[in-house]
Amino acid sequence: METALFVAWFEEAARLVRADRDRLTRLDAAIGDADHGTNLDRGLTEVLKALAESAPASEAEVLTTAGATLIRRVGGASGPLYGSLFRQMGKVLQTPVTLAAFAGAFEEGVVAVERLGKAALGDKTMVDALAPASRALALAVRDGVGVREALDQAARAAGEGSKATIPMQARKGRASYLGERSIGHEDPGAASATLIMTALANVAG
Ligand code: ADP
Ligand code: MG
Repeated sequence: METALFVAWFEEAARLVRADRDRLTRLDAAIGDADHGTNLDRGLTEVLKALAESAPASEAEVLTTAGATLIRRVGGASGPLYGSLFRQMGKVLQTPVTLAAFAGAFEEGVVAVERLGKAALGDKTMVDALAPASRALALAVRDGVGVREALDQAARAAGEGSKATIPMQARKGRASYLGERSIGHEDPGAASATLIMTALANVAG
């Protein structure tokens, strides 16, 4: 996995989030404050700008630049959370960036999100998509699965994890204020995490 692939990942993520911006915002309208689509669309646009300006020299630099930009530029809860994911990944990423190295960094990135958000699996947050994706990557590494297939499996696991948030009651973030009324809606952050994982699978082909 190379620097250009990581830049392409954020370009594709920005494209997918832009295309689904209104759906993400509708999901957030149901259980939050209707800004998730616009927050992330704006944040990823800023990431692309920062990457174009800084011309990152390594995979790790792409990730830390993206993370820092999201932390700085996205007002909502999701900015610092996604920002921590990518910044932590960039901090610990080993080179050469094999699938195992990527999976290891992703796992640590997800732990950073869980720490910052004080969120665990089942709280109806982005963690419910990110943690299953991380687990799928770890299993793929263990089983010697190729990169493309591994990333497809991770994206699928994220999507299944996101759908599984529908019957959950939110225990973290704005949606938790709704109590039982948060049940029956997909978590917007889990939905956007699925797009981000799908973006990586799309460009790895
Ligand atoms: P805000 O909630 O500030 O409006 P966004 O709408 O951009 O921010 O993002 C909402 C998403 O952020 C939620 O759907 C959820 O996935 C995620 N989120 C919110 N709080 C937490 C938390 N404490 N831990 C993990 N994820 C969280
Ligand atoms: Mg919101």
